[in-house]
Amino acid sequence: MIANSVIRGKIYRLLQFIVAACALIIPFIKTSNGNSLFRFDVSTLQLHAFNTVVSFASFFSAFIAILLFTFLFVFTTQLLGRVWCGWLCPQSFFSIRIESYSKKIKNKTMRRIVAIILAFLFALVLTLNWMMYFVSPYDFISSLKSSSTMVTIGVVLFLFIFVDFLLVRFKWCKYVCPYSKFQVVMTDDDTLYVGMIPGKEKECIDCHACIRVCPTHIDPRKNPDADCIYCETCVTACNHVFQKKEHHEGILGYVWGKSNKLNIKRPQLIITFGLSVILFILLIFNIISSSEPFRISVDGVAKNIGNGEYAVNIKLKSNLEKAVRVHLTNPDNVAEVSPKGIRVFIKASVDKTINIKVLKEIPNNTIYLNAVYDRAKPPIQLEIKLK
Ligand code: SF4
Ligand code: SF4
Repeated sequence: MIANSVIRGKIYRLLQFIVAACALIIPFIKTSNGNSLFRFDVSTLQLHAFNTVVSFASFFSAFIAILLFTFLFVFTTQLLGRVWCGWLCPQSFFSIRIESYSKKIKNKTMRRIVAIILAFLFALVLTLNWMMYFVSPYDFISSLKSSSTMVTIGVVLFLFIFVDFLLVRFKWCKYVCPYSKFQVVMTDDDTLYVGMIPGKEKECIDCHACIRVCPTHIDPRKNPDADCIYCETCVTACNHVFQKKEHHEGILGYVWGKSNKLNIKRPQLIITFGLSVILFILLIFNIISSSEPFRISVDGVAKNIGNGEYAVNIKLKSNLEKAVRVHLTNPDNVAEVSPKGIRVFIKASVDKTINIKVLKEIPNNTIYLNAVYDRAKPPIQLEIKLK
């Protein structure tokens, strides 16, 4: 029995670290079309997701996506309670780390210093990570240099998170977080919670180990409580007590509501699940029907091949029912591009190396080309870095 709880605790921590690592590296991963694996590009109002580009310039797509996200969140909360808070939320993930790492230090001053350093580092990592979900990490420095708005947003975000990690931590979960307020009306008598396993009440020895470690200062034995963030700290504490005393796992754990039985035949659960499925189908249908008929992307940077000339690969993908000739021009007249035209057949893909001859000094070593495949449509702008 002890082994079960120890293994579950390890899986819990491992999952948290895997989620955190994924969240950090996802903006850096590029798919075969040269875009991020998952990122909302603010400059183009496009969602890059798994080799697909969804344009949110269309109000309808954005509206469906927000509704889907909301209903999925409601459905998850109805079924699993605040599982998001304990298992996936970066606020509680980093707050738990700051408390557990700094509490190991006995000297009070050193403990405070370590907490400040951790809060600073975690706030910095989180700020950069969040911003990279909106601006490509590969253009991040140049975007910061050229946009004072971005710098301001970054500084404000960093200060906000730093103060939160330093002074607020779990008070945020308890008193401020809007999700915690909403979840009170979303949960019901069958929602999963962390608390006393039914039938084990008499085994409690009133040691209060679970209450002492609870970051939101509640009594886990009286759960369900709206302030519980499902961090499992009380479960681990109780397990330690019983491991020492009776060599079996503790009396706290996950409980499926008042009956301690998974009940999926709840009207509200069925409604939110059904709506989520309908919205998901609608979103996919909308994405497919509005997917770009023609896509051009730059593959890497333009490499210097001598005599002021650069070579770069571009990828063209057509979903059109006719062959087209794509015209490339440099609107700033600082470079000549060759070939000037590329032919793409019906529903075909082309990989092509183009040459760029630089005529004047190029600001920021970045050149812009316009690609036109249909005169009735605005040109597609390509940004090319010269190396
Ligand atoms: S009751 Fe347990 S799971 Fe809930 S917040 Fe407190 S320690 Fe975490
Ligand atoms: S840690 Fe376990 S035994 Fe101790 S008070 Fe909490 S529930 Fe009871």
